[in-house]
Amino acid sequence: MPVATADYVIVGAGSAGCVLAARLSADPGRSVLLLEAGGPDRRAEVAMPAAYPRLFGSSYDWAFRTIRQPGLGGRRTAWPRGRTLGGSSSINAQIWTRSLPSDYDEWGLPGWSDRDLLPYVQRAEQMEDDEDPTAPRPHLSELRDPSPSTAGFLAACREAGLPESAPEGFGPVRVTQNHGRRWSAADSYLKPATRRPNLTVLTGAEVLRLLIEDGVATGVEVRLDGERQHLRAAREVIVSAGAVNSPALLLRSGVGDPEQLVPLSIPVLVDRLAVGGNLADHLYVPVSADSPQPVSPGLDDPQAAAREYLSRRTGPLSSNLAEALAFVATLGAGPPDLELLWMIVPELGPEQASRHGVTVASVLLKPASRGRVRLDPADPAGPPLIDPGYLSDPEGQDLATLRRGVRLARRVLSRPALQSWVKQLPVPDPAGDDELDRLVRARATTLYHPTGTCRMGADPDAVVDLSLRVRGLRGLRVVDASVLPEIPRAHTHAPTVTVAERAADLILAESP
Ligand SMILES: Cc1cc2nc3c(=O)[nH]c(=O)nc-3n(C[C@H](O)[C@H](O)[C@H](O)COP(=O)(O)OP(=O)(O)OC[C@H]3O[C@@H](n4cnc5c(N)ncnc54)[C@H](O)[C@@H]3O)c2cc1C
Repeated sequence: MPVATADYVIVGAGSAGCVLAARLSADPGRSVLLLEAGGPDRRAEVAMPAAYPRLFGSSYDWAFRTIRQPGLGGRRTAWPRGRTLGGSSSINAQIWTRSLPSDYDEWGLPGWSDRDLLPYVQRAEQMEDDEDPTAPRPHLSELRDPSPSTAGFLAACREAGLPESAPEGFGPVRVTQNHGRRWSAADSYLKPATRRPNLTVLTGAEVLRLLIEDGVATGVEVRLDGERQHLRAAREVIVSAGAVNSPALLLRSGVGDPEQLVPLSIPVLVDRLAVGGNLADHLYVPVSADSPQPVSPGLDDPQAAAREYLSRRTGPLSSNLAEALAFVATLGAGPPDLELLWMIVPELGPEQASRHGVTVASVLLKPASRGRVRLDPADPAGPPLIDPGYLSDPEGQDLATLRRGVRLARRVLSRPALQSWVKQLPVPDPAGDDELDRLVRARATTLYHPTGTCRMGADPDAVVDLSLRVRGLRGLRVVDASVLPEIPRAHTHAPTVTVAERAADLILAESP
C-alpha cells in the first residue's frame, strides 16, 4: 500500500486551487499536495498585462475548441483555459468584478446568499495601498496608464444616456495587477505560501483519474515525469480543475451519466446525469471599428513600448486591453442583462492585429441557453467535447438580447465623444433584425466564462452538496467555477475566488 502523501490532494492550481492550497496549509497541522498539469508561470507574457492573447494556443493554454455550434452558423470557437500555475487567472484579462447581490440570492441555497458570501469577497479584495501587503489576497488596482480613448468611451456612454445607478452603470475596470504586473491567484495566494513545510506543489502533474474504493475517494492517478503514479489523500481529494476538466475527470472516474459511460467501458460508480451538464457561458459579439489614430498597444514602435513597460511598468503594455465596462438592463427593468466591454483592439487573439482599432463587445450576461461537456467517445482521455449550446434557448431570448446589444454598441460608438477614435461605424443604421441576427451568428464568441458543469444544489440531482462534497461518495469535493449553479452577471474570476474562500472555511471547520 502506498503511504498517504498528504491530508488534502488538490487537483489544479487555478483560481480556486490556489486559494484552497493557501488557506488549508495555513493550518500547520494539515498537509496539502497541489497538483498542476501545466508548468510554472514563468513566461514574460503572463506578467505583462497586454500580452495575454499571445498565450492563447501556447503550452499555457489547454486550447480547447467547442463542437460545431448550430446557433453560430455551424462555427467552432476557440476556448482558451489556463494551463499553468494560476490557471486561467494567469492568462485572463485581469478584470475583477463582484457578482451582483441578486446573483447569489437567486441561487436560493442556504449558506450561499449574498449576505453569506460578502465577507469572503471582502476578504479576497485588497487594493494596492492597503495596509497589509503580505496578506494572501488578490492585489487589485486601477489601470496605471489607461488609453485616452477609454475616457472617450465613458463620455460616450453618458452621451448615449446609459443608466448610471447600480446595479447598472459604467466605469473603468479594476484589475488583478500589482504595480503594473498581472497578479494571478498564484501570485496572490500560492507564492506567499510555498515555503510552508506542509504544502507541496507539483507542476507537470496531470491527474488522469480519481482513485475511488468502496465509495471513498482515496487519491488520484497522475502522470508525473512521464510515469503513471498513484498519490494518496489521507482526508480528501479536492477537484479544482475548472469548468471543462473537473466534469471530465469525474466522468473518467465513473461519476456521471451511465448512457455516456457504459459504451466507453467506464464502470459507473455514481449515476449522475448532471455531471458535465448545465454548462453556461457569457457569449459576446464584438462590434469593432478601425481607428483613425493610434490606440492599440504595442503596434507603433513596439520596442519603445517594451522599454517603457520594463523600466517603469507603465505605458500601453500595462493595459489589460479591455479597459472599461457598462452594465445595462436592455428591457429597462430588472437586473442588467447586457454588458458593454470597451476594448482598445479591433480583435482579441494570438495574432497581434496589424491595424489600430477599438471594439465594443456586447456581452450576454444572463444566457438562457445551456450546454454540456462530454467525453469524446473516440478518445475519452483526450480533450472533451464542449457544446455550450450557444443561442439554443427555444424562446430565442439570447439572440434577442444580443441584437439589442449590438444596436446599443453602435449607439455608443456613434457618439461625438468617440468620433476621433472611430473611422467608420461598423453596423448600418437602422439595421433590420435579420441583418443583426446574421451578424450575431457570424461573429459571436466566448468571453471565456464557463460555469455550472458540476452544479451545487440541495436537490438529489446536483453534483455537489452545499458543502461542495460530491453526492454519493465520501472524501471528494469539487471547488471551482464548475460548482456555480447559475452564471453570475459578472466576470467569473472574482466569484470563483469567493466560492473557494468559503469552501476553505467549510473544510477547515471540519474537525481533523
Ligand atoms: C482568456 C481568458 C480571459 C478571461 N478574462 C477574465 C477576466 O478578465 N476577469 C474574470 O473575472 N474572469 C476572466 N476569465 C475567467 C476566469 O479566469 C475563470 O473563470 C477562472 O479563472 C476559473 O477558475 P477555476 O479555478 O474554475 O479554473 P482555472 O483557473 O482554469 O484552473 C484550473 C486549473 O486546473 C488545472 N488542471 C486541469 N485539469 C487538470 C488535471 N487533470 N490535472 C492537473 N491539473 C489540471 C489547469 O491547468 C488549471 O491550472 C477569463 C478566462 C480566460 C481563459
